[in-house]
Amino acid sequence: MTGEGTNWMTRLRGGLQKTRIQLSTNAGLLGRDLRGYGRNADLLDDLEAALLAADVGGPATADILSSVQSSRRADLMAALSDALIEQLEPKKATEAEDTSGLTPWFQPTVQPSPVQPAGHVVMIIGVNGVGKTTTIAKLGQHYMEHGQSVMFAAGDTFRAAAGAQLEVWGDRLGVPVIQGREGGDPAAVAFDGASSRRARGTDLLLVDTAGRLHNQTNLMQELNKVHRVIGKADAGEPAEVWMVLDAVTGQNGLQQAKKFNEAIPLTGVVVTKLDGTAKGGILIPIVRELGVPIKFIGVGEQAHDLQPFNAHEFVEALLAE
Ligand code: GDP
Repeated sequence: MTGEGTNWMTRLRGGLQKTRIQLSTNAGLLGRDLRGYGRNADLLDDLEAALLAADVGGPATADILSSVQSSRRADLMAALSDALIEQLEPKKATEAEDTSGLTPWFQPTVQPSPVQPAGHVVMIIGVNGVGKTTTIAKLGQHYMEHGQSVMFAAGDTFRAAAGAQLEVWGDRLGVPVIQGREGGDPAAVAFDGASSRRARGTDLLLVDTAGRLHNQTNLMQELNKVHRVIGKADAGEPAEVWMVLDAVTGQNGLQQAKKFNEAIPLTGVVVTKLDGTAKGGILIPIVRELGVPIKFIGVGEQAHDLQPFNAHEFVEALLAE
C-alpha cells in the first residue's frame, strides 16, 4: 500500500470512530468469544440493535443478520464484514470496467483516479451546508494529484460568498475559476465554464450549484436548465451529476436524495461528514435504495479527508481492531 493509502486508512478509521463504537462496541462484538455465535440469540439481538442505531435501516439489517447466520465463517466479525461489503457493493457494476485485459508495458508515474468521471464535466448538487463547495475543492485537488487538469465554475450565483470561497480555493490550488455575476443566471456561468473547458482542452470541469431543497420547484427546474445548457456548450456533457450528502442528516438526507434523483438523475453520491456521526451505516441504504454508487466519502475538513469510496476499506476501518 502506498504512503497515502496507509495515511487514508488512519484518517478513515479516525473519521469512522463514532460509527465503529456504535457497531462493534455497543453490539458487544469486541473481546468476546464468538465461536458458535450462530446460536447466540442475545448476541444477534445486540447486533441488530447496533445496526439499526447506525442507520443501516430495517431491510438491510434483516439481510445482514440472515447472511451472518447462514455464513460458514467461524468468526462473526468475518461473517459481518462479508455481509456489509455485499450490501455496499452494488450488484450490477454501474461503472465501466477496464476490459482491455492487457497489462501496459509501462507504468504511468501518476496513477489514474479510481473514480474517473465518465466525461469532462461534473455537476455538483445538494442542500445548503452539506459541504458542496469544500468538496469541489477537495475533488479538484484529488484529480490534480492524479494527473488531471481541472477547472471550476462558480454556479452558486445566489450567495456572493460561495463564488468568493471557490475563488480562494482556485487560487490556492492553481485552478481557473469561471465566475458569474452575483444574482446572475447560473446556467450562463455553467455555459461559459463548459465552453471554456472545451476550448482549453482541460480534463475536468467541476460545476458548483447553489444549495436548494427538493421542494423548491423553481430551483429544481433550474438544475435541469443548467444541465441542458452545459450540453449546448459541449454535447454529451455533463457526463455526471453528483449529489453531496451530509452523513449527519442520515435518513432525512437519503429521502432528499431520492427526490433530487427524481428531478435530475444522479450518477453518483459524495457522502461528507462521516466523522460527525455514529450513523455511518447510512451508506448502506444510500446504495440499496438510491441505486446510485457512492463516489467519494469525507471524514474531516482537511483536503485528504475526502477520498474515493471503497467498500472493503470502509468495512475494514469500521470493524478491524
Ligand atoms: P456548501 O454550503 O454545501 O457549499 O457547504 P460548504 O462547502 O461551505 O461546507 C460547510 C462546512 O462543512 C464547512 O465548514 C466544511 O469544512 C465542512 N465539511 C465539509 N466536509 C466535511 C467533512 O467530511 N467533515 C467535517 N467535519 N466537516 C466537513
